[in-house]
Amino acid sequence: MPWRKTKDAYAIWVSEVILQQTRVAQGLDYYYRFLQAFPTIQSLADAPLDDVMRVWQGLGYYTRARNMHAAAKQVMSEHGGKIPDTYEKLRSLRGVGDYTASAIGAFAFNIPRPAVDGNVYRIWSRIFGVFTPIDTPNGQKELYQISFEQLDKQRSALFNQAIMDFGGTLCMPKNPLCGDCPVSDVCYAFRNNAIALLPAKSKKIKVTNRYFAYLMIRHKGDTFIRQRDGKDIWHSLYEFPLIETGGSTSLKSLEKTQEWKEMFGNVKPTVLHISPRLKHVLSHQHLYTQFYIIEVKTIPYFLSTNFIKVKADSMGEYPTSRLIDSYMAAEPVEKYFLRHEAGSGQNKRSRRKD
Ligand code: SF4
Repeated sequence: MPWRKTKDAYAIWVSEVILQQTRVAQGLDYYYRFLQAFPTIQSLADAPLDDVMRVWQGLGYYTRARNMHAAAKQVMSEHGGKIPDTYEKLRSLRGVGDYTASAIGAFAFNIPRPAVDGNVYRIWSRIFGVFTPIDTPNGQKELYQISFEQLDKQRSALFNQAIMDFGGTLCMPKNPLCGDCPVSDVCYAFRNNAIALLPAKSKKIKVTNRYFAYLMIRHKGDTFIRQRDGKDIWHSLYEFPLIETGGSTSLKSLEKTQEWKEMFGNVKPTVLHISPRLKHVLSHQHLYTQFYIIEVKTIPYFLSTNFIKVKADSMGEYPTSRLIDSYMAAEPVEKYFLRHEAGSGQNKRSRRKD
């Protein structure tokens, strides 16, 4: 991997942040794209947040991108543009937790600390037979202690890399390749037929179902979007007017909601198309979403004061969630939504299909 062939702390940081919650194959593409757009910490700090979000679009967990952007500014203002070379100072950067600080520290500066994440918990809990749940402070403390004891302090970068590779190629979460494993003879889980039991977890992830109705409101060649804020998913990304309901709903019941009435006021909307219900899966949430393509002859007051008007074919210039991005790339949006552009003989929207 390119990030293992460099000692550039910035490139290592970018790779570590991208690879959290992301498969290496997908992360590689984003890694190149990100460094091409922001080749130095200064260029990242100087870039508008929207530009950063656009490059990050499709990768998910958008807080990571916002934090990196804020941390880059912090490096410029507090560390003279140089990524700090101690664990404590790395840890003080926005969004840099114990794992990332340890990983940057080990790979860029050979700081003798183990970079401990879920993969590492899995490996050591299996080898040492640790049944304390890894989602509890006690379990994490116990496994961190083991990781620290096992770490080759002289070759921190090499050792951390070896453990990561071991978790990715042999001791995977499901179907680990114990037959090829060089430590199977000392591995507790292998010797005691406990692979399915380790790592132990105390609770299952609670998944919430949410129901979204996106209103893609067309007025001539324009549509309306706004930037998400608040403490929720997709912070800072752009989206169409959204009505969230307590369960799956029909157009009739949607029209009776307060949000719909507030949105359209006295203006009579014409619903041109309703998408099938789409299921979008996030780590803790399942989003059941329908897109309503709606036409209005005059712009309702609420829409004009709470949303920004954009050309329908310029949506690609705004960072949006993968849900909106993939829906916009599909039919029948082109047919209904961009009908006004049909006469111009061109459709300028070109979107990534990530
Ligand atoms: S023997 Fe199997 S479970 Fe144990 S460390 Fe090796 S790959 Fe993992």
